[in-house]
Amino acid sequence: MPTTESPAHVVIAGGGVAAVELALALHDLAGPRVRLTLVAPQPDFELRALRTAEPFSADHARRHSLADLAGRIGARLVADRVLAVDGDRHELRLAASGILGYGTLVLATGARHRTAYSRAITFTGDTESQDYQGLLADLDGHWTRSVAFVVPPGTTWPLPLYELALMTARETHAMGIDDARLQLVSPEATPLALFGPEASQAVADLLARANVTFTGNTYARPDAEGRLQLLPGGERLDAERVVALPTIEGIPIGGVPGDDRGFIPVDPDGRVRGLADVYAAGDGTTFPVKQGGLACQQADAIAELLAAAAGADVTPTPFRPVLRGRLLTGRGAQFLEHPLAGGAGAGARPELRLWSAHRKVDGRYLSPWLAELDGAIAVDDLDDLDDQEPAVDIEVPLSVGRDAMRLDPYSPLSPR
Ligand SMILES: Cc1cc2nc3c(=O)[nH]c(=O)nc-3n(C[C@H](O)[C@H](O)[C@H](O)COP(=O)(O)OP(=O)(O)OC[C@H]3O[C@@H](n4cnc5c(N)ncnc54)[C@H](O)[C@@H]3O)c2cc1C
Repeated sequence: MPTTESPAHVVIAGGGVAAVELALALHDLAGPRVRLTLVAPQPDFELRALRTAEPFSADHARRHSLADLAGRIGARLVADRVLAVDGDRHELRLAASGILGYGTLVLATGARHRTAYSRAITFTGDTESQDYQGLLADLDGHWTRSVAFVVPPGTTWPLPLYELALMTARETHAMGIDDARLQLVSPEATPLALFGPEASQAVADLLARANVTFTGNTYARPDAEGRLQLLPGGERLDAERVVALPTIEGIPIGGVPGDDRGFIPVDPDGRVRGLADVYAAGDGTTFPVKQGGLACQQADAIAELLAAAAGADVTPTPFRPVLRGRLLTGRGAQFLEHPLAGGAGAGARPELRLWSAHRKVDGRYLSPWLAELDGAIAVDDLDDLDDQEPAVDIEVPLSVGRDAMRLDPYSPLSPR
């Protein structure tokens, strides 16, 4: 890691979850020891995780100016896109502004979405709120009686689909509709299997109370007409409408290695294999679970390494993923009023507990930043935020140690 420059010049490519967490962390840990440059193609940070609430008018995705963030932490913001990395020269080629040198580079460029099923509403968190409202209107008008929520193979963070299913159930209940058939189809062995058996059972109970049928260990594959066939059984999916999550793949950047799906290969410390002084964090890496909270934890681990290398008094702690999920279930429906509880016992048992609103994507630095911007709340008061929405937060320490890169997101974890 080159620390010959003084202060060390760290360039962060990206303006999303991992990039913002990393910038805030590095500013806090290394201060003036590091000169920071952010390269992001869009002017705002947007918390897309809240998009699932929008069709139900329960909340909305927030946007925050990256220029303001850069000003606050003394970073330079370059409004541009990285096209290629020249590892030997320590240079980036940008789409509009030419060459930019770096001492250390962190790629936090995320992933791109692909539609898995042509006939489905694919919920990417981008623009489909209106489509979804159309679906709700069709349910309300009895034009649609059955909806399947389908997790395509390869999607490793299925939680948004559970939110959509549960909030749709709540909405149909509020419409006075009692004959809508809602089902969730997933390659997962059990609902939100990644959170472990106890949390998974609690989510299964939640689905059952909402009358959402769960079919696990099942892959949906489109036939020539785009209708979905369920594997391994081979039967056709019985639903008038389908809502799906996208599959995701890496965004190719010249000079940066990628696996067969374009994800950047990193070691457990976030170092990009084969490129000196280049790190990567977030959805764009080969870390198997693509989730915002985990992206932040990757960013924090890299920030500690870089701060220590720049001479700050920081002892880097290795990346140990802890999975936290905040499941929006909708407001006011009786069958959703019971929060999940229990399981927080001793040892390695999963822990279920309430978590504050701004931790939907949970970042050590990102969450207080968002809380402060959204409500002008003092950071110290963050834990006192009283969230009125019924929501379920699940925290599961993944004691996977060195096996973190080999997580299977579809199978229940046995906590060790
Ligand atoms: C609907 C939905 C609900 C979700 N719910 C949750 C949730 O409840 N909890 C949770 O933890 N996670 C959730 N997630 C996942 C979470 O949003 C992602 O895991 C997280 O955003 C990944 O962070 P990232 O920084 O890797 O990528 P992103 O946040 O996508 O950021 C990538 C950034 O890189 C920029 N970029 C792209 N290419 C380049 C380039 N060539 N040069 C420079 N910049 C570039 C992009 O413009 C963007 O700013 C949800 C996602 C969606 C879509």
